[in-house]
Amino acid sequence: MNTRAEAAPHTAYRIGPNAIVQLAHTLCAHHGRAVAAGLLGESTSYTLEALPEAMVNEVEVQTFVQHCMASLGHMQGLAALHEAGARTATYLMAHRIPRMAQLAMRITPPRLALRMLLRAMQAHAWTFAGSGQFTVRQHRRGATLEFRHCTMCRGLTAHAPVCAFYAGTFQQLIRQLVQPTALVQEVRCCAMGHDCCRFEVTFAVSH
Ligand SMILES: [Zn+2]
Repeated sequence: MNTRAEAAPHTAYRIGPNAIVQLAHTLCAHHGRAVAAGLLGESTSYTLEALPEAMVNEVEVQTFVQHCMASLGHMQGLAALHEAGARTATYLMAHRIPRMAQLAMRITPPRLALRMLLRAMQAHAWTFAGSGQFTVRQHRRGATLEFRHCTMCRGLTAHAPVCAFYAGTFQQLIRQLVQPTALVQEVRCCAMGHDCCRFEVTFAVSH
């Protein structure tokens, strides 16, 4: 039987290039080109002049994330990852998510629009989950998104959730397409020893 565990040592799982591209852009914006170039070059096979345009090996993303967290410190590292996620969402809306689908979600009531977006996210999980397994569950207050074997925090140990790249991407997508004040918070994280990374999507309470 070809299980995921057996395949993992021999298979390079790949994810979309934005995890590297947008993190590099964010580092340039807030820490300068020298810092960005250093962190990028020390942890991936890319440079600022030759950023990836196709799917990348998830291990390079993990190394880049770990290196940023170690170099910038927890708070600044998380801030960079969150902004890189938000920039990724902006990129996806500009280049990947069909305009008609965006319009449909914007004119649909939030709970139904969220269902449409979650379905699309689930269908495209192969572009961002890598060797992780992504599941979504919608409920009355919003939704719960989970990664088992999350690829983004692999190799990291932390006292607080660290998958801010995903939180930033999801929150920006949901705010732009579903409800402008929605919140996405990571409430469990594999880096803390939990069995999954869990993100809670909540809508602002209406009065
Ligand atoms: Zn996590």
